[in-house]
Amino acid sequence: MTNLFKKMTLPLAVTSALLASGFTSASTAHTHATSRIGQELQTSSAAQYQNIDLDARYQGDVLFEHESNLFWGKGERIKVLSKTGESLAYTQASDHVHPTLTKHGRKMDQAIIQIDDNVYLGYGFGLDTPVMIEGDDGIIIVDPGESVQMAESVKAQFRQITDKPVKAIIYSHNHIDHISGVRAWVSDEEVESGAVKIIAQEGLTAAVANWSSNLGTLFGHRTSYTGAKHVDEGEHGTVNDGLGPRFMQGDISFIEPNVVLKDRLDITIAGVDLEIVNVPSETKDEVVVYLPKQKILHAAEVLQGENFPNLHSIRGTKFRDPAMWFKGIDTMRQFDTEVMINSHGRPVEGKEAVANVLTAYRDAIQYTHDQTIRYMNKGLTPDELVEVVKLPSHLAQHPWLGEHYGTVAHAVRQIYVGYNGFFEADPWQLEPMAYEQRAKAFVEIMGGRSNIMSTAKAAIKAENYTFAAEILSYPITIDKDDMEARQLKATAYKAWAADQVNINWRNWGLNAAAELEGTRDFSQLISFASVDVLTALPSHQILDMMTATLIAEQTLDVEMALSYSFVDTQESFTIEIRNGIAQLHETALTEADVQIKTSRAVLNQILIAGPNAQQVIASNLQSGDFAFAKGGIQEFGKFMSFFDKPMSPEEIMLIVR
Ligand SMILES: [Zn+2]
Ligand SMILES: [Zn+2]
Repeated sequence: MTNLFKKMTLPLAVTSALLASGFTSASTAHTHATSRIGQELQTSSAAQYQNIDLDARYQGDVLFEHESNLFWGKGERIKVLSKTGESLAYTQASDHVHPTLTKHGRKMDQAIIQIDDNVYLGYGFGLDTPVMIEGDDGIIIVDPGESVQMAESVKAQFRQITDKPVKAIIYSHNHIDHISGVRAWVSDEEVESGAVKIIAQEGLTAAVANWSSNLGTLFGHRTSYTGAKHVDEGEHGTVNDGLGPRFMQGDISFIEPNVVLKDRLDITIAGVDLEIVNVPSETKDEVVVYLPKQKILHAAEVLQGENFPNLHSIRGTKFRDPAMWFKGIDTMRQFDTEVMINSHGRPVEGKEAVANVLTAYRDAIQYTHDQTIRYMNKGLTPDELVEVVKLPSHLAQHPWLGEHYGTVAHAVRQIYVGYNGFFEADPWQLEPMAYEQRAKAFVEIMGGRSNIMSTAKAAIKAENYTFAAEILSYPITIDKDDMEARQLKATAYKAWAADQVNINWRNWGLNAAAELEGTRDFSQLISFASVDVLTALPSHQILDMMTATLIAEQTLDVEMALSYSFVDTQESFTIEIRNGIAQLHETALTEADVQIKTSRAVLNQILIAGPNAQQVIASNLQSGDFAFAKGGIQEFGKFMSFFDKPMSPEEIMLIVR
């Protein structure tokens, strides 16, 4: 078998010639698509679009940027009230940053933008754009911001305009950058007394609680890769966050809504009429806010800034339904909007301009979705689909559809997986050769490690960076300490990152390079830990997450149960270990070996304490707030020893595998 692989090996000269002749990576291969269907599509789309002057339709007369670079339109109703002179984005030209991405960052100057005489945007202070609507005797805040500190910085600006009290907060949806600043604006007392309304779509609190999933360890780690948190910011790191200049990390607060809408709420607050409408799209709980008298629409994050949307987030998420998303935009197109403001991206003035942006945005989503489905029905697999599903030029060139945040390519791959699952239909995929063994076979077949190294160097020289990275994976899999191969792969990824217009792809490439070089910096990691969010999490959900941490191989002969009774919430639960599984019962089983009486409040303290949990338990044991009705600390320790501790970020390798 070994000899067979050797015979099949392509001489290096042949491989290098192939590389030099321009066989390119998938992301740039659209002009080289070789499949019959690919050729068909290119011919037909060329014929379809060549005679239409689409650029004129989309730019110029209808949709144009104001000279301030801070909004779209003539400035009849929108003006820049003040600028701080700051930008949180990296905006200098650099050989290490794609010029289009730099240009994107230059739209993110910090400013207070005013619409008419009563609506204000805190633009460029972070990822989110908090909005203040001034009424007769109070203000309404839409989207309080991504952290208490970021919200405070916007509040300082808004308070120079008016000192009227906050009457209402509207959460546009459950994402962290839209709710976390709430405590900068209001207190629990103001909400409890009813002086301040907190308005959101039904299900928002449950969605906030779901930020904590049993894959929290992995997704936390992957989020640091999408944010390039292991390298410095700037030309060799992240330059903007796509949706806005920068996610401003800080304290994450949350106060539960006290006005919950189902689909729609028409309400007058401080003399301002508001139509708040659920538009399932990026999230199911997304709401838009329409001011009928002024015909202003706050479009939430239904449009993800001036970017093709993240129909899938590469940090890792469940399937987001593109069909739900573009249909949501159709709901928004029914308003008679004259000015559109957004959670991310610049405001748009003019009826035609708003209609233009909304139509292009929903069309891009539907196009991507429908054409992926169409070609899936012809049997195409993800690697083939990305070569044929490309936006036509009137959408690809549209200024609100740059691929700075989402990309068509990674959306197409996820649409395939979301509808079909992983299996592409070729049976070897059901039972491929064992992972390391396969890597060894590929190294041999490719003529050995040195041949791979020199081919990779040739590929890098030919700017085929991802191909170089792919073939270097095999020697690295065989020998994880092969620093020469790791360094070469890092070189490929740095060069690839510099070419990307998509911030998430760029950041991931740079972080991957740091992992390969062994230089990951862990000091900038984002923490999403928050007492407010934890408090919103149902007890059964916390305990249910524990079941997926059972060390199965050590418990195949174990039968043991532990029960919790919470005196404050009157809830009780039992976790039963039974031969390699842990079952959660939502009751206290009388036969449980260890029985604990405590409170949900103490459980919150223990969870927040993380590595110091034992000390928290000890002090609560002493005060009697954590007590054993059966069993004791030793049995408790034994029970807990059957569950895995999360790996530290330093231990988790995503690329060197
Ligand atoms: Zn969002
Ligand atoms: Zn957002």
